[in-house]
Amino acid sequence: MQREPTDFLGTIGENVASKLPYLEYARRFDGLGLAPLGVLIAACGTFFVPMPWNIALAALVLALTLVVHRMQAAHRKIFVARQVAHALLAIAEDCLKLLSLDGRIMCISDVGRNLIEAECADALIDIDWLALWEGPDARQAFERAKAGESTSFSGACRTMTGTLKWWTSTFAPVYGEHGRVTAVLCKSRDITAERNLIDELRGNARVQKDMEDHVDAVFWTATHDFRELLHVSSAFERMWEMPMSALEADQTAWSQRVHPDDIGALRVEMRSAVQTGSAKQSYFRLCLPHERTRWVRADIYPVTGDGAVSRVVSVCVDATDERERLQELHRLANTDSLTGLANRNAMMETLVGRCEAGTAFAYLFVDVDRFKSINDTAGHIAGDAVLRTIARRIQEALPGGAVAARPGGDEFTVILPGPFDQESIERACRKLAAACHRPIKVDCKSVTMTCSIGVALYPEHGRTPEALFISADMAMYAAKRAGRNTFRVFGEREKDDLARAHLESELHGAIRDNQFVLHYQPQYRVKSGALVGVEALLRWNHPSLGMLPPGAFVPVLEESALIVEAGHWVIREAVQSAARLSGALPAVCSVALNVSPKQFRDPRLVHVLRQAIRRAGIDSSRIMLEITESALIDNVDDAQEVLSKVRDMGVRIAIDDFGTGYSSLSYLARFRPDVLKLDKSFVDNIATDEMVRTVVEGVIGLAHKLGVTVVAEGVETQDQLDTLRAVHCDKVQGYLLSRPIPLAVLMERAGSVGTAVAH
Ligand code: C2E
Ligand code: CA
Ligand code: CA
Repeated sequence: MQREPTDFLGTIGENVASKLPYLEYARRFDGLGLAPLGVLIAACGTFFVPMPWNIALAALVLALTLVVHRMQAAHRKIFVARQVAHALLAIAEDCLKLLSLDGRIMCISDVGRNLIEAECADALIDIDWLALWEGPDARQAFERAKAGESTSFSGACRTMTGTLKWWTSTFAPVYGEHGRVTAVLCKSRDITAERNLIDELRGNARVQKDMEDHVDAVFWTATHDFRELLHVSSAFERMWEMPMSALEADQTAWSQRVHPDDIGALRVEMRSAVQTGSAKQSYFRLCLPHERTRWVRADIYPVTGDGAVSRVVSVCVDATDERERLQELHRLANTDSLTGLANRNAMMETLVGRCEAGTAFAYLFVDVDRFKSINDTAGHIAGDAVLRTIARRIQEALPGGAVAARPGGDEFTVILPGPFDQESIERACRKLAAACHRPIKVDCKSVTMTCSIGVALYPEHGRTPEALFISADMAMYAAKRAGRNTFRVFGEREKDDLARAHLESELHGAIRDNQFVLHYQPQYRVKSGALVGVEALLRWNHPSLGMLPPGAFVPVLEESALIVEAGHWVIREAVQSAARLSGALPAVCSVALNVSPKQFRDPRLVHVLRQAIRRAGIDSSRIMLEITESALIDNVDDAQEVLSKVRDMGVRIAIDDFGTGYSSLSYLARFRPDVLKLDKSFVDNIATDEMVRTVVEGVIGLAHKLGVTVVAEGVETQDQLDTLRAVHCDKVQGYLLSRPIPLAVLMERAGSVGTAVAH
């Protein structure tokens, strides 16, 4: 049989085994003391035995001596081998012993004696080692060793002092001459400490399992690359609502239940925990059967060993309540309590998100027109009701994906997702404006609101929330200026502003380069049809655009200070014309000129007027200043002062556009104008609307009582003229009779025709 030593003890065993027969001889010969006997016999033979016997005896003695020598050499070898074996036994850490074939201890190492807790080695010699063990394991392993196998077994036996110890014993057969097993070498390792530890760990694992089974959290462990799940606690089945067998069949099955929007972030946190070596946390949703959702919070802990992350441990808990509470708090913090729309915070958050996403969208600023008047007249409760209704309507009018907010007051904002073209933006704005414009019931009354909308486009009109906010705000004010109840896209207003700025710079040149001209619109006495006066109206003879009406540039003049300078030019020019007219057409007794509110408040007005009249050398009563009601009312006391100075000069005063502003008859009495100019809006309806006719008749009657002359302007039809005549209007002016015309044309026409009023 092939014998293969498995460890160094096996080698010792082999050694010892091969020397055993010599050991036996050595014992025997050693005891006989053959060497000195041989020498003695050899000496006796040489000196006392006669020839030839003595020669034969000497030869025999010598032969014997040689044999004895050889045996002594063999004995020394055996001795050395024994010493080596003893030394090896002494240094072995385990209990080494040689067992006879019936299982008795033949010899044992000192360490072994200690481990077995025997007082001395002799006490152990010859005891039945196999009898120390309970059960058949020890005997079975021993029998197999006897049959030539290297075997082992684990079991418990008591030491000589009665302590129960756990051992792992390994047997190696020891072979004698002719290859027969003559003894069994046994090495027993004391594994009591390990065994206790295992028991303890088993106990811990049981405790862990008990805990895991009764706790709702899922505990799982995975390899550092997450390729293999090492452990998943039983709560997984309850939380994931998935049998453990599904996970065992496919280790990635857990991820199939994670919401597609959350899985990316979860994986990022898992990898980050490994990369950074620090704990991470992630929230994700589980998509459960019957369209239910469960929020889960995963705490992920990297486990490090030898400086690198070896495993990842995680605890997952149901965070649905926590998330719902948070969401509710978040909703409250981001909702406008009055309307339920998003508040300023939420709007800013959404705007930031949209800007970061970088896709096209429109930001709309919706401002309710004249909301303050509702609050002032109907009270705050009614005002709140109006805001709630408008909020609801805005939301209803929005396309899918749009977000409406109420940042505060009567302002609403809307984010419209793109992409879109000009037309789709306009359509959305019109829809919003129309939704706001429908009547709203408040306290059994019906109010009609309008809103002005400013639009800013991302990224054209701003790349940050702040920039978009400013752009939309400016566009909204452009919509307000355009008359409210409308919308403006930021770009249009920008263009308007640029055009306005350009126009303003050109207007400076207009005054300097004498590009302004005055046209004169004749005024006729209704009764006689005689041409009795003219109104000077400003025109700008623009170098490239041609003759521009005041509507195209007077608002720009008024916004800048240029109106005063232009007004001075008008005064000088009109007064000059009055002088020319007084010579050519003495019947034209008045030249009216328009004074803007700003110019009226300018302290130089009276001076410029006086100088112009003096220079022209005309009767100041031929000049009439047309001032709008609002210019007088803005600052009544100052107005009175200017008016009295102007009147002192002999210049006459007309209240322009009567009927468009306050139309307060009490002011009529207070300012005592010479002329009242009935606005075109009255004249337009006078022939068709009995009410208007009655009002006009009343105004004219009162004016006459106060000694005020009434001029109707914008007369376009014969019916209007006839009605005005019937209500005793004094003078008329309008396209029916003449458009505003250059002075030369007027003089020429008046010279040839005389009067122009058809009777
Ligand atoms: P306004 O003072 O009410 O002038 C009358 C306007 O009505 C003039 O328009 C005149 O052309 C127009 N008009 C007269 N008859 C008719 C008619 O039958 N039908 C219609 N549709 N329109 C008629 P214009 O010249 O365009 O002036 C517009 C406004 O510009 C004036 O309104 C006045 O407020 C302002 N304006 C004109 N010239 C001056 C000026 O020299 N200084 C200032 N500050 N404002 C001026
Ligand atoms: Ca006028
Ligand atoms: Ca007017």
